[in-house]
Amino acid sequence: MNDHLAEMGIHRWARRHPAGPGDNPVASPVTPVEVAQDANDWESLQGKVAACQLCALAKSRTRTVFGAGSESARWMFVGEAPGVEEDRQGVPFVGRAGKLLTAIIESIGMTRDEVFIANVLKCRPPGNRDPMGEEVAQCHGYLQAQIDHVQPDIIIALGAFAAHALLRSVEPIGSLRGKVYHYGERETPLVATYHPAYLLRSPLEKRKVWDDLKIALQVSDAA
Ligand code: URA
Repeated sequence: MNDHLAEMGIHRWARRHPAGPGDNPVASPVTPVEVAQDANDWESLQGKVAACQLCALAKSRTRTVFGAGSESARWMFVGEAPGVEEDRQGVPFVGRAGKLLTAIIESIGMTRDEVFIANVLKCRPPGNRDPMGEEVAQCHGYLQAQIDHVQPDIIIALGAFAAHALLRSVEPIGSLRGKVYHYGERETPLVATYHPAYLLRSPLEKRKVWDDLKIALQVSDAA
């Protein structure tokens, strides 16, 4: 996966394909109305994700990965996309990066069952390639509906793809981290930090994630 390039601030995905409608989630997110309306109906939303055919990833996936945890969680973690193990099990963050995410969640005194863990994409990009802009745009309605339903006190965007999709920014993750943003109409506080997969490659950066989580803890304590 090339996400370490993104983590280092090298963002090539928006330029790899000719520009076109839906190719840049910042410019033209596709939010299917019927999906957004499902924010109140969790089961229906789960069914829609499971049956989704909005993009070509439907053909290569083994399972969709809706997300996991509490639908009334105070903390919501948003990653990039399922990897090979997540695609096999239909559960987010179960591989090596997932084990680290579990440890991160436990380090702030919570369990995976108490938070909600989602991804920008609900299907695995083949070969663990980077998500394409059109895939991010097509899938955005599901993530939006999940956030609308869960109504977390705080969102943690894990890595550049999640931060870019949620903040409509193309800034490197290193510049986005360490601050509090506000997402959507409810102005949900959002903190962006490094993706656990990046931390596996660059363990010295763990301290910065801890710094970001301390900011998030202050926000959630005040909520
Ligand atoms: N990386 C992600 O961003 N999400 C997963 O579910 C697994 C690995």
